[in-house]
Amino acid sequence: MKTQRLFFGIALPESLQQQLVRWRAEAFPADVGRPIAAANLHLTLAFLGEVSDEKSQILQQQAARIRQAGFTLALDDAGHWPRPGVVWLGCQRPPRGLLQLANLLRSQAARHGCQQSPQPFHPHVTLLRNVTRSMALPPRDFHWRCQVDHFSLFASVFEQGRTRYRQLARWSLDA
Ligand code: ATP
Ligand code: MG
Repeated sequence: MKTQRLFFGIALPESLQQQLVRWRAEAFPADVGRPIAAANLHLTLAFLGEVSDEKSQILQQQAARIRQAGFTLALDDAGHWPRPGVVWLGCQRPPRGLLQLANLLRSQAARHGCQQSPQPFHPHVTLLRNVTRSMALPPRDFHWRCQVDHFSLFASVFEQGRTRYRQLARWSLDA
């Protein structure tokens, strides 16, 4: 049976990806962790894992029925989770629409056997990986914003030694 590694997420606009990468280069020493490539900077809504084409179709049909308005994503927070080794950007006050969308996608995924982590959803954009020793975070002297008017289903593909996300479908948020 053919499967793909899938997740629902929000792609950041390219201009914002570039800004984040420029900020990261100034804010962190070059030898800290593994920087995520600009094109891969995203926010995961629901991780699905390895999914068959059949199940993917069902989850896509359910995603297509979601009627929700868009929202503004304000990246004004940062943190470091030493255990997974992740440095992230997030929101001090996540918009209600973002939490609602993620919770809905996560519960639909769980109903179809895609196990969801028991931890509460914490929306974030991973900036660096493999940062396991404790470190001082740079000052939170930033406040990036972007309007989110759609969400997408991505396949995570590992080829030629790197991970790439391929958008399989997208749905607008314009209820
Ligand atoms: P790589 O693993 O190659 O470093 P990646 O973590 O970005 O790259 P994936 O592991 O395919 O690629 O993950 C895709 C997205 O799903 C990422 O946002 C990742 O943080 C998230 N993710 C991966 N595994 C899980 C999991 N078990 N639970 C929740 N989210 C996950
Ligand atoms: Mg991973």
